[in-house]
Amino acid sequence: MTKFAPLAEFRKPVEATYQLAFFRFSPLEGDRYVLTNQAGEYLVLPRSVLSSFIRHELSSSDSYYSRLRHRHFLFDASSNLGKALLANKVRTKAKRLENFTSLHIMVVSLRCEHSCPYCQVSRQSEDRSAFDMTEETAEKALALVFRSPSPSIKIEFQGGEPLLNFELIRYVVGRAEQINSSEQRDLQFVITTNLAVVDNTILEFCRLHDILISTSLDGPADLHNANRPRPSRNSYELAVAGIQKARKVLGHERVSALMTTTKTSLSKGRQIIDEYVQLQFPGIFLRPLSPYGFAIKTKSYAAYDVDRWLDFYFDGLEYIIDLNRRGLPFKELYASTILTKMLTPFEPGYVDLMSPAGIGISAVVYNYDGDVYASDEARMLAEMGDKTFRIGNVHDNSYHEIFASDALLDPIEQSFAGSAPMCSECAFEPYCGSDPVFHMATQRDFVGLKTRSAFCHRNMTIFKRLISLMEDSPMIRELFLQWAN
Ligand code: SF4
Repeated sequence: MTKFAPLAEFRKPVEATYQLAFFRFSPLEGDRYVLTNQAGEYLVLPRSVLSSFIRHELSSSDSYYSRLRHRHFLFDASSNLGKALLANKVRTKAKRLENFTSLHIMVVSLRCEHSCPYCQVSRQSEDRSAFDMTEETAEKALALVFRSPSPSIKIEFQGGEPLLNFELIRYVVGRAEQINSSEQRDLQFVITTNLAVVDNTILEFCRLHDILISTSLDGPADLHNANRPRPSRNSYELAVAGIQKARKVLGHERVSALMTTTKTSLSKGRQIIDEYVQLQFPGIFLRPLSPYGFAIKTKSYAAYDVDRWLDFYFDGLEYIIDLNRRGLPFKELYASTILTKMLTPFEPGYVDLMSPAGIGISAVVYNYDGDVYASDEARMLAEMGDKTFRIGNVHDNSYHEIFASDALLDPIEQSFAGSAPMCSECAFEPYCGSDPVFHMATQRDFVGLKTRSAFCHRNMTIFKRLISLMEDSPMIRELFLQWAN
C-alpha cells in the first residue's frame, strides 16, 4: 500500500490548478481540522473544505482559497513571492540554531535551608560546603561560557539556594564582566532564589550589576508554607518580604516569580492567580511538576495525572481571560510562549518546546562539581543516579569534547520531532518540542512513545484548546495576539 499520491499529483501545472505546499493537518474537534505550514502558521478548515483542497478541487473563488494562498498552503500562478516569503519565515524561526547556547546555568551550591518535598534538585543540608562550587571550577566554566558564539549570554545562578554561596556569585559576576569587556556580548545575570537569606548587601550588589531576581511563589501563605517547609514555617513571609525589598532596590520589573503545582494546589488555582495579581506580577506561569529529584522520591510527581493538571490549567486560563475581560491586564505565560510560536515569526526560546531539542545547544548547566549537563532537568535526573545527559566536566574536557559529544548529539538527533513517529505527521509539531530528557525519565528512551507520553498529551491538548479559543472568540484572539507580542 502506498502512503502518498504519485509524484505527478504534486506537479500539476499551475495554470490549471494550484500546487500544494508542504503542510500537516490534525483534527481539532467536531468536523474542524487545523493545518500548519512549515513556518508554524495555521488555518482551521471544515473537513469538507480540507478534502476538496487536498484533491485540487477548491475553487479560486472560495473564501478559503485566498486564506490558504496567503498562508502559503498553496501556490498558484499569482504566488510570485510565496515560496521566498515562506522560506524567509522558516529561516527566522530556525535562527536560534546559529546562535547556539545563550543560557548558561551555574549551580553554585546544592545547599538549601528549605526542605520542599517536591524539590526537583535533591538538595543537601545547609552546612555541607562540600556541595559548593569553587572558584577554580567557576573559572573553567566561564571559559566555556564565552566559547559559545551566541551574541547574548545569560548566566543564571541556581542551587539548592545559590545565595548560600554568594561569595562565588560575586566572583563569577566580576570575572564575567572582566572577560566581557573584550568579548562585548549582551551579558545578563539572573539569580534564582527563594529570597529567604537575601539582605541589603546582596541586593545592592544586584543593583550595581543589573542582576535579575527570579523567585518561587506557590500561592497564598497556607499553600506556599505547606509546599515549602523550613524550620520556622515562614517561607511565604520571607518570600513576600524579599520580593518587596528586592523590587524597592532593583525596580519592580526586575523581580519575577515561578510557581509549582502540587496536589494541594489543584483546587486553589484561582487563589494562586489572585495572589500573583495582588502582588502586582504581570502574569503567572502555571507549571506542572516535573518527574525528577525529590518530586519522584517523595511521590509528589505521581500525586496527580496530566488530566487533573489540565483541568487546573484550563480553569486558571479561563479565570485569567475573565480578568482581562474585566479590564485587568494579566498573562498566563506558558500560553504566551506557545502563542508567540503560533502567531509570530519568532521563536521564544523555551527549552522544553524546541525541536531540535534545546538541550546543550540553547541552555547548558555547569554543576557545582564541574560536571556539565545538557539541561537543568538533565542534572536533576543525574541526582537520581541517571547520568545519561552528563556531557562532560569543565576540568577534564574541552569545549569541542563537550558540545560535540555523542552524549549530547545522539539525543538531539534521535528525538528530532520532524522525524519522530507521530510528531512527523502532527499539525502541532511547529509549536511542540522533543524533550528527550523527559522521555528518558519516564520511558527510558530519547523519543518516547507519544501515545503514552504525558508531555505529548499535555501539550497537544493545550495547542488544540488555544486554537479553538481563538477561532471561537474574536476578543480572545485579540487578547492572545497581545500576549504573543
Ligand atoms: S509530542 Fe505530541 S503534540 Fe508534540 S508534535 Fe509530537 S505528536 Fe504532536
